This record gives sequence, structure tokens and C-alpha cells, in this order.
Amino acid sequence: EAGIVIVGAGQGGFQAAASLRDSGYEGRLVLVGDEPGLPYQRPPLSKAYMKGEAGIEQIELRAAAFYADHRIELINARATAIDRPGKRLLLEGGESLPYAHLILATGARNRPLPVPGHDLAGVFYLRTLADADALKGKLDVARRVVVIGAGFIGLEFAAVARALGHEVVVLEGASRVLARAVSPDMSAFFADAHAAMGTKLVLGAGVIGLRGEAGHVTGVETGDGTVHPADFVLVGIGVVPNVELAAGAGLEVANGIVVDAHLATSDPAISALGDAVAYPSRFAGAHVRLESVQNAADQARSLAHRLTGKVAPTGEPLPFEAVPWFWSDQADLKLQMVGLAAPTDIAVLRGDPASRRFSVFRFRDGVLTAIESVNRGADHMLGRRLLAGTPTLTPEQAGNEGFELKSLLA
Ligand code: FAD
Repeated sequence: EAGIVIVGAGQGGFQAAASLRDSGYEGRLVLVGDEPGLPYQRPPLSKAYMKGEAGIEQIELRAAAFYADHRIELINARATAIDRPGKRLLLEGGESLPYAHLILATGARNRPLPVPGHDLAGVFYLRTLADADALKGKLDVARRVVVIGAGFIGLEFAAVARALGHEVVVLEGASRVLARAVSPDMSAFFADAHAAMGTKLVLGAGVIGLRGEAGHVTGVETGDGTVHPADFVLVGIGVVPNVELAAGAGLEVANGIVVDAHLATSDPAISALGDAVAYPSRFAGAHVRLESVQNAADQARSLAHRLTGKVAPTGEPLPFEAVPWFWSDQADLKLQMVGLAAPTDIAVLRGDPASRRFSVFRFRDGVLTAIESVNRGADHMLGRRLLAGTPTLTPEQAGNEGFELKSLLA
């Protein structure tokens, strides 16, 4: 039977399968993934799982029985090509699967560090459960760790490693931490917070090479000639989308598999979602590729609705237009972000950063574009509702703690 075949059994692929069944899809449903084991959540890999506070059962998205109960066929294999005229997905080993509709949820992989010494033993990345297990093993003995990249994964791991008593140095090439994701104010707050944890943070530190002895890393060299001693290294310098399967099949690719507002690729029998895709977003005013659980899961739900015929009251299919949001936990700091800000959007502070409970509201031409909150979940939740519509909040209201944000929802 040619049913729906999903490539990639990560957050988005799993959710697409689950939501298709929820939405009443009855046909054959196959989930093909190249990682061993059951689909799992990645966020805990750099948080509770890395700390040893959550085990594998806590991070698996569902237990094995769920797949049997929902007639979701899990196939552990790598998909190698798409035969579009024949509507078949080719797997390593020569097998192939027929499809009526194909969903690409291939995610992203770590961007490799492009410097000499990158292949020394003791150099780690963090994307998969296997990566996390390898890295976790290094945390058993107190050591000096150098983290390359002050993005979410680098800083979350740094917070865990510090809490476990390791000496931690974070090297960041940009002039601030989390530079791609948050306002300069928020970057400054997190830089101070990590310094207060005892992490040494070096900004503007371009890594030019890794030093090693007997094949194992011993240090990280930056452009100014400093060598930071390291017993092991975590590289967290971003990801590249897994677009090769799509590109090989002649689908349009540009910083991700290009899809339309309904998550369809240039072939109507193939859709795509999650970290691997670039989609048109009213929040970005352009095609954008986002890397978050919310984005993958909401796209999966939206696509399941389309494929099962759920439409707007007008009879039109529903486009994907969920409000983007994201979170990151670093020590006792819960950062939540909603909306998409451009670097030039102004920042208005609500609350006192010194209290470790505050938000930064971002505005462009007087219009709210995003909210970054630390330990202030109510602002975040309100932001999700405001940004789903046309927010009227002014910068003056945002900055005035006496102004009741909730009054805008009335
Ligand atoms: P993935 O979950 O990456 O799944 C893609 C799957 O497809 C992978 O298993 C891959 O191996 C497989 N695959 C690829 N190509 C093929 C092929 N040809 N054949 C078969 N299988 C294939 N997001 C948040 O919102 N909040 C967080 O706090 C957060 N923390 C994170 C912490 C870590 C350590 C990491 C790594 C990510 C974190 N993220 C977080 C990001 C979030 O996990 C991703 O955005 C999400 O997993 C994307 O889902 P996806 O299905 O698009 O891709």
C-alpha cells in the first residue's frame, strides 16, 4: 500500500505521524529514521539528561506500544534517494517504499569546526542521543572543558558542566553571546550570569586551531595566540539543514528545503517541515528557517490537518502561521522567547534584570515584534496571544510595570 511516508524520526517526523492519526488518517503510515531507538526529545540532551536528572524513558517522545497501537511503522534506515516519477523512497540497502505522499523531516546536523585539529579525540558535538552519551561520559571526572560557541547549546552545556564542578571556558567569535537570537541587553545579562557561575567567557575569540598530543585534544588556540588548555572540547557553532535528499530529487533548496505557506515543496506529492525547511513567515516578512521544537511540532500539526482535509470555513486550506516561540534553560534561568525580532528592533525593559526576573520587549516602527523573558512566564504567554493577532502594545506601556498587559486581551 502506498500511504504516507515520513523521512526523519525526530521531533517533527514523530509529531507528523502522531497528528496524522489524531486527525483521522487511516492509511499506511511509515516513519523512517536513521537514528537507533525510539524517537526522543533533543532539548533535555543539554539540560536534564546531561545533568543526569532525566533518563532515556523520560526523553522518549512515546513508549514502543504507542507506535504499534497507532499503526505507525518505524523503520530504522537511512533514506538515500527519492524516485519522484515512481513515487518511491529508496533506503540504504536497496529497499524502497512506495508513497502517496512523502514528508521530509530530516532536521539539521552539526556544523563542523573548520580548523586544524578538529578530528582529534576529545572533541565533541551535541545533536543526538549518541552525542549526548559520549559527552556525558566525560563529565564523570572533574576536568577542564572548553566550549566553542556561545549559542544556546554551548551555554546550556556550560551551565551543566559548571554545576558539576568543571572548569569551563567558553570561546565566542562574536562580540556578544546568543548574538543570533536575542537583544544586546539579553546577551549582556547572560554573559554576566555565566561569569557569576564561574565560567570564563571570552568574546571576540576566533578559534584558529585545536592542539593535541597522541591524537587527543589538549587545548584550543585563538587568533591572538592564546592556547586554552582543555581535557575535552564541545563545539556548538550551529547546524546545517539536511537538504541533500531534497536537492538530489531536484526540489528547490535555499538555506533549507523551500516550501510554501502550506509546507508543500515544489513537488505537490512532497511536503517538508522542521529544522530542514525555509518557509514564508509573516513574522520574518520572508522565508525563514527556524530551529525549535515549537516550529517542528506546529508545522507537523498544520501539515497533518492539510493532508486530512481540514480547511478554513471558507473552504481554503489553512496556511501555517503559528507564532514562533522558543525556550532555553541555563542554571536557574529560564529564557523564553516569542516572535521574531530583527537586530535593529528597539528593546524596552520591563522589570529589573538584577532581580533575575524581567523581560525585553522588541519593537519595530512602534509595533511589537518579540518578547524575551527571563523567569517571567506570564509575559511570554501573553506575548504568544498578542503576537497571534495585531498587537497594540506601545513601547511606553511595555516599559511601565504599572500598566496591566492583560488589559490588552480584554
Ligand atoms: P530533528 O529532531 O533533528 O530530526 C531529524 C531526524 O531525521 C534525525 O533523527 C536525523 O538523523 C533524521 N534523518 C536525517 N536525514 C535522514 C535520512 N536521509 N534518512 C533517515 N533519517 C534521516 N528547541 C527548543 O525549542 N528548545 C530547546 O530548549 C532546545 N534545546 C535543544 C538542545 C539540543 C542539544 C539540541 C540538539 C536541539 C535543541 N532544540 C531546542 C532544537 C530542537 O530539538 C529542534 O529544533 C528539533 O528537534 C527539530 O525537529 P526536526 O524534526 O526538524 O529535526
